[in-house]
Amino acid sequence: MSRLGTETAFEVLVKARALEAKGRDIVHLEIGEPDFDTPRNVIDAGVKALQGGWTHYGPSAGLPKLREAVAHDAGGRRGVKVDPAEVVVVPGGKPIIFFAMLALIEEGDEVIYPNPGFPIYESMIDFVGGKAVPVPLREEMEFRLDVGELAALITDRTKVIILNSPQNPTGGMMTEQDVRDLAGVIGDRDIMVLSDEIYSRLIFEGKHFSIMSVDGMKDRTILLDGFSKTYAMTGWRMGYGVMRPDLATHVARLMTNSNSCTASFTQVAGIEALNGDQASVDNMNAEFRRRRDRFYAGINQVKGFSCLKPKGAFYMFPNIKETGWPSKKLADALLDDAGVACLSGTAFGAFGEGYLRFSVANSIENIEKALDRVSDWAKKNL
Ligand code: PLP
Repeated sequence: MSRLGTETAFEVLVKARALEAKGRDIVHLEIGEPDFDTPRNVIDAGVKALQGGWTHYGPSAGLPKLREAVAHDAGGRRGVKVDPAEVVVVPGGKPIIFFAMLALIEEGDEVIYPNPGFPIYESMIDFVGGKAVPVPLREEMEFRLDVGELAALITDRTKVIILNSPQNPTGGMMTEQDVRDLAGVIGDRDIMVLSDEIYSRLIFEGKHFSIMSVDGMKDRTILLDGFSKTYAMTGWRMGYGVMRPDLATHVARLMTNSNSCTASFTQVAGIEALNGDQASVDNMNAEFRRRRDRFYAGINQVKGFSCLKPKGAFYMFPNIKETGWPSKKLADALLDDAGVACLSGTAFGAFGEGYLRFSVANSIENIEKALDRVSDWAKKNL
């Protein structure tokens, strides 16, 4: 159990709530979830499903109608044909990381993963006894992955490469050329790619390109996507993996052994999310863009902070090296002294030192309040 890591966002949230209980006013920019409500049509579909009796167990791999809808949507967006037998519906995107590592990694197998990156990758690689091999994401590269650097990390023991684009925590995005180059590097080696595309509908600049779309790569890719971020459905717990049918069978068996199935009424709502009106996705994107632009303009005025403009997702990852403060100490000080909750870059791995992560999943008013507070704090303390 000591190998299992955690997600600092939840710990900072607890600390921030404890300060609030003592009467402090805190601006929450720590947690990575849309602050919007789930779209009305999806809620209505969920309520109707509950009232209509969708309260029983369902198949471990997901309701056939939802698997069909996912196959159509996920395949269509990536220009590949996906069969429903290749889809496994799970409670959130996270279990796909868990199940992929359990299914594919033996003691000592190497997994290359982005660092800074979503902390659950490293945690799960360690947990199953794999060797976590970080590929640093560099600001000079706009936090795109350096394919040459990754190529140099591949060995005979490399089993899986984890990709995440658009990326948490940096907002960086791989270009189509990066993805094609990486597919070329993998060639016909016996390596699977876990492609975490949970932010693929949250893009401000450029176009998302999945490694699944490269000829010959579909069978080597496990696509992770879901409903949490795109449709503001974090608490519903629903995501999915798309993978070769033989692997899908094993992952469905892991579902049988762990969750039995994803909640049936949420899956019925998921069908509506995919097939219904997509206007709310566009509206949320437009609002996230407005917030990103506001935060970007403000944070670059703060002494000691400099920030790139993220291309996707809803995180800002300013460089704070000029402050001379270590990231964790600075994040703690901003919470304790300025009432702004954010995360240390090191919550996403060692290569996050020198950065902070702010989630802009909060109102413009609160973002402005946070910027004022951080700016005042910097004036007083730097
Ligand atoms: N992958 C990345 C990169 C994430 O940032 C998150 C959530 O923060 C997830 C996966 C998991 O999402 P879910 O809430 O659907 O499990």
